[in-house]
Amino acid sequence: MNKDKLPIQEENFSDWYNQVIQRAELADYAPVRGTMVVRPYGWAIWENIQSALDERFKATGHVNAAFPMFIPMSFLEKEKEHVEGFSPELAIVTIGGGQVLEEPLVVRPTSETIIGHMYAKWIKSYRDLPVLINQWANVVRWEMRTRLFLRTLEFYWQEGHTAHETAEEAEIETRQMLDVYTDFAVNVAAVPVIPGLKSDSEKFAGAVRSYTIEAMMKDIKALQSGTSHNLGQNFARAFDIQYLDRNNELQYCWTTSWGLSTRFIGAIIMTHGDDQGLVLPPRLAPIQVVIVPIFRSDEEQKEVMRVVEEVAEELSALRVKIDDRTELTPGFKFNDWELRGVPVRIEIGPKDVENNVVVAARRDILGRDGKIRINMAEISMQIPALLDQIHNNKLEKATKFRNDHIIEPLDYETFKTSIDGNWALSYWCGSGECEAKIKEETKATIRCLPLDQGNQQGACILCGKPADKKAFFAKAY
Ligand SMILES: [Zn+2]
Repeated sequence: MNKDKLPIQEENFSDWYNQVIQRAELADYAPVRGTMVVRPYGWAIWENIQSALDERFKATGHVNAAFPMFIPMSFLEKEKEHVEGFSPELAIVTIGGGQVLEEPLVVRPTSETIIGHMYAKWIKSYRDLPVLINQWANVVRWEMRTRLFLRTLEFYWQEGHTAHETAEEAEIETRQMLDVYTDFAVNVAAVPVIPGLKSDSEKFAGAVRSYTIEAMMKDIKALQSGTSHNLGQNFARAFDIQYLDRNNELQYCWTTSWGLSTRFIGAIIMTHGDDQGLVLPPRLAPIQVVIVPIFRSDEEQKEVMRVVEEVAEELSALRVKIDDRTELTPGFKFNDWELRGVPVRIEIGPKDVENNVVVAARRDILGRDGKIRINMAEISMQIPALLDQIHNNKLEKATKFRNDHIIEPLDYETFKTSIDGNWALSYWCGSGECEAKIKEETKATIRCLPLDQGNQQGACILCGKPADKKAFFAKAY
């Protein structure tokens, strides 16, 4: 561990972000510009994200499969908006096994096309529907400006692809998966996201409607953290995904796709982290509890370690680590685990052994205020309850922070002067011109039209024309 202090968030958030990732050993830069290595501690977070999502996907009837990473170039060209949207980001293979290929192959930037091709083959009748498949995969998008986890040439994600009989069913599916992402973000990651609809200019290339969950980072920027797309019949027409309906007539399917990626780790880092380092949400933390034994003599060590083992055994249902490194002082270890964001640290010394207690220290409340003495007999009850409290506290804090930085400016002048340190919730007339002008003048984009807005009437923040929808405007990653 590097002994220099981390940069202060308020002074240089971006430097803080890069350094905390490397010092906590979540990820590192790889030899090819813009690619990253996800290190074991970072990958363990991703595995926990995967299992929380996978459980929810399966509970809603989805199954997993694996499709190839190479896609014939011609497939991407079949859906016009799709190829336009992705062309600048494609990695293309032209040589294989020493031979120039007859048709170039695209390294998948996303898999609608190849999965659409296969669905056309598999789906014959309404009896085959719905098809509800997800895949866990890596994809490649040749980005120019990259950031660890947020934007890298290659990243890991899941992509769900479903096909349905009716437009209504496809919309229900799209919204259901948005709800799954929201539930995961809020109740597992303690990241309070705002679910909403993307404007046309921000929607997925080839989609009819894109929904998103948007999260506010500690530097107030927005991070799109997961998306769910209603593809209508666009891909079904491009790939001839047809079925015989209940009247024996040939119809095009209605399809959806939805994805959440390793970018979400960036959301966790920037929602919860502080000047001491990472603060991991307990339900995703690779290590939920670290036990640090404290002793001076061999005799004390023997006594303390006996109790340490006992406590670890009591907590075997949790992800527990015993830090028995002998070459390091307890103080060094405390800092180290704080940097790595472990939610609870348990300290056990000779006095504690004598008194039959342990001291639990919360990562979300540093110092004396976050320390609790727990009787040995109550550990298996108290620690899981403490983890839930920490989750709730993290969620509450992040929600308050977000709400404190949402404004509803009365006019465009106020909008312009306050958009740097806030998100603006403003009426928008729906015109792409207003959206583009606001972006040009303030660098703020429409993050989403939040779903929970009533039937109100107002005036567009820019042009003043009547508007019945509000949108969140913010600078974004
Ligand atoms: Zn307008």
